[in-house]
Amino acid sequence: MTGGGRGIGAATAMLAAERGYAVCVNYKKNQAAAEAVVAAIRAAGGNALGVAADIALEPDVVRLFETVDARLGPLTALVNNAGILERQTRVEHIDAARIDRVFGTNVRGAFMCAREAVRRMSTTHGAAGGAIVNVSSRAAQLGAPGEYVDYAASKAALDALTIGLAREVAGEGIRVNGVRAGIIYTEIHADGGEPGRVDRLGPTLPMQRGGAAIEVARAILWLLSDEASYSTGTFIDVAGGR
Ligand code: NAP
Repeated sequence: MTGGGRGIGAATAMLAAERGYAVCVNYKKNQAAAEAVVAAIRAAGGNALGVAADIALEPDVVRLFETVDARLGPLTALVNNAGILERQTRVEHIDAARIDRVFGTNVRGAFMCAREAVRRMSTTHGAAGGAIVNVSSRAAQLGAPGEYVDYAASKAALDALTIGLAREVAGEGIRVNGVRAGIIYTEIHADGGEPGRVDRLGPTLPMQRGGAAIEVARAILWLLSDEASYSTGTFIDVAGGR
């Protein structure tokens, strides 16, 4: 679980533990938040481990997966959830360094984590298979004009990873799917400079409210589960009809 310390990742980590997964709660820098998730899982009788690693950095990704091998056993599932966005602005104000940061986590990081997962889960490597869920956004299709087109483009790239990798490893026991979240109550909107964004936009949505992280988590867990055994390269929109 990349980015499991807060928001959608935290809700997904806790639900996964409830469903019997031993969960690696990866985070970048907010150790307190990640340790709180780990403590909550352990208090409920589950198995969890917090690991600090910046998924944009290749040595960190390699160390993250080696830690999971050593501490939690064979990998069966990956949720590529860690993602970032920066302050709302127009394309004409986005510099190259920002594009590198956003794509570094949202695209490069997800690719490297998927690579490590395939090496551990593919039947061609003698493993038993597994499932990957990439946490994307409706922004991939809507473009996020005036807010963060760079972020939207990174999520469109992530969706292409979902489609391509799904077909690449479909015969090797690995399913790869995506969840495109809508406007969900988490702290990510503060990073965009508008902490109240969900309250502002919620009433304008077909369902007339923002979503909760647990509602995204349930879709992720379904796609990871055997209930979704014949689904790969596909997406669930969890976006209140948006
Ligand atoms: P969030 O509350 O800001 O949490 C992000 C999590 O990702 C944190 O645990 C953070 O770690 C971690 N993270 C960020 N960069 C990382 C990196 N380079 N390496 C490792 N961990 C990293 O975000 P969220 O709203 O839950 O978003 C989760 C995913 O859902 C993202 O991919 C986001 O794009 C997607 N999404 C969210 C919404 C929404 O409305 N909230 C909508 C569509 C899609 P620290 O705690 O250490 O900072």
